[in-house]
Amino acid sequence: MQFEVRKTWKNHLGNQRIDPLRIYEPRSIAEVQEVVRLARARGVNVRAVGSGHSWSDVALTEGFVLKPTGMTRVPAAEPDFIRSEWAGRKLVRAEGGARIRECNAWLDASGMGFENLGGYDGQTIAGVTATSTHGSGMRFGPLNDALRSLDVVVGDGSVQRIEPSGGPTDRAAFEAHFGDRRALVQDDHVFNAVCVGIGCTGVICTAMIEVRDRFFMREVREMHPWAKVRRDLEDGAVLERHEHYELAFSPYDDGYAYPFLVTTRDTVGDPRNRPWDKRMRNWLVELAALFPYTPHIINLILDVRPALAPALLRGSIKALVKDRYDEVSFKVFNIGNANILPAYSCEIGVPMDGRHIEAVEAVFRVARERRELGQVYQSSPIALRFVKTSPAYLSMMNGRDTMMIELIGLNGNDGGIELLKAYEEALYALGGRPHWGHLNTLSGSGDFVASMYPRLADWLDVRAALDPDGVFDAPFTKRVGLSRGSFVA
Ligand SMILES: Cc1cc2nc3c(=O)[nH]c(=O)nc-3n(C[C@H](O)[C@H](O)[C@H](O)COP(=O)(O)OP(=O)(O)OC[C@H]3O[C@@H](n4cnc5c(N)ncnc54)[C@H](O)[C@@H]3O)c2cc1C
Repeated sequence: MQFEVRKTWKNHLGNQRIDPLRIYEPRSIAEVQEVVRLARARGVNVRAVGSGHSWSDVALTEGFVLKPTGMTRVPAAEPDFIRSEWAGRKLVRAEGGARIRECNAWLDASGMGFENLGGYDGQTIAGVTATSTHGSGMRFGPLNDALRSLDVVVGDGSVQRIEPSGGPTDRAAFEAHFGDRRALVQDDHVFNAVCVGIGCTGVICTAMIEVRDRFFMREVREMHPWAKVRRDLEDGAVLERHEHYELAFSPYDDGYAYPFLVTTRDTVGDPRNRPWDKRMRNWLVELAALFPYTPHIINLILDVRPALAPALLRGSIKALVKDRYDEVSFKVFNIGNANILPAYSCEIGVPMDGRHIEAVEAVFRVARERRELGQVYQSSPIALRFVKTSPAYLSMMNGRDTMMIELIGLNGNDGGIELLKAYEEALYALGGRPHWGHLNTLSGSGDFVASMYPRLADWLDVRAALDPDGVFDAPFTKRVGLSRGSFVA
């Protein structure tokens, strides 16, 4: 197997970069095993990366990088051996390096679709799983909750198929085929740790996802003031009435009492015969986001006249209003060209027990204080997404329905990172947990992570069993206190 020596690996935005010892591009589970065994024998760390769409340092390693370019097949070639109780369910096993985009294309052509998705499709299946990537809608947990089975190369280089108790694989058929070459683990405890493993519980080589028949959705976008949105959130009925409900807002009340873009998405019939303008988003906005100088122009305006930020934000929210957009589900989930703007993001999840409303008002307060103190302005609307509780031990949604607050800044915006830190601090005080893949300043000191995650000890217990030598340790695990020393005395 070929490897590259001392080349730089960097993430999609270029804000995270490192010169690892080697970069490998394995094409099979056997090749992944070879690299993990070599790393263990040589006492170096190894980390699988996805498509590098994390803004945080979560994918960095100083040791061996495993790039997923050779493991992108949908469906994967690994045999499933489905038990009769699972027959008839819609299941697809993809290789870990397949991107959501390729999965969508294959599923669509096969008359199927993901039940729920985030706002983008450039990440890999293993990458979204590892950080508990999510969409918005109280009926749906994060994307890892749709997983049913994983083929994982663990710290000693062996392969385990890991599933929840009562998982889809027929043990007799699996063992007859693989003998003692692979183990089948059907155990909720192990599964709940590994499906959000943050790259620490093994290399995910394949992932089986439960999907549904192809379907269509209608997106409606309206603008409302905070007073109305606040009443709706307190009442909660909007979250039950709509399959998907999300918000994007400006934290400034100049000229309008905090403008909120309210987006709902619900299943509709096949829209093929509807007028073309109902089958697309606002084309002018999409075009503006494609224009490479758009962020530079916005940054320039904010440099020269920072006080224009509230009006710019209000204008961009208003421009997104649309009475309806009907399309096949995976296109409606995708928020469009906004994804390709050079931007960074910090995202914090707060519990939906009243603290979610306090959190919005804390964001208003921080934005106001930073504006008064240092003329620092928010350069992009802030998004709120709503996610059902997840059993995965280190999911940001573990044990609680969660409102995720995405704080986005345009690359190069003056004071933007310092603003994110101020929001982050205020939201930690309200029980916030940072998205693993988004910028965060989380530290392992003072049992901070343990205080956020009540199931951390369970996760570490599984990690100790799957990676006793800490082969998957990384700069990120050292920073947040999840390295070998946290599970081996
Ligand atoms: C434009 C954009 C839009 C986004 N939209 C959303 C959104 O809507 N919702 C949301 O929640 N997040 C969103 N994110 C965040 C993103 O989904 C996560 O950071 C995700 O983890 C990135 O996946 P990736 O494939 O790029 O993985 P990477 O960023 O490369 O890696 C992420 C983690 O996964 C681990 N990993 C990767 N492959 C494997 C493997 N084979 N086995 C084990 N571990 C592995 C890595 O070690 C690392 O810890 C967005 C990010 C961007 C840049």
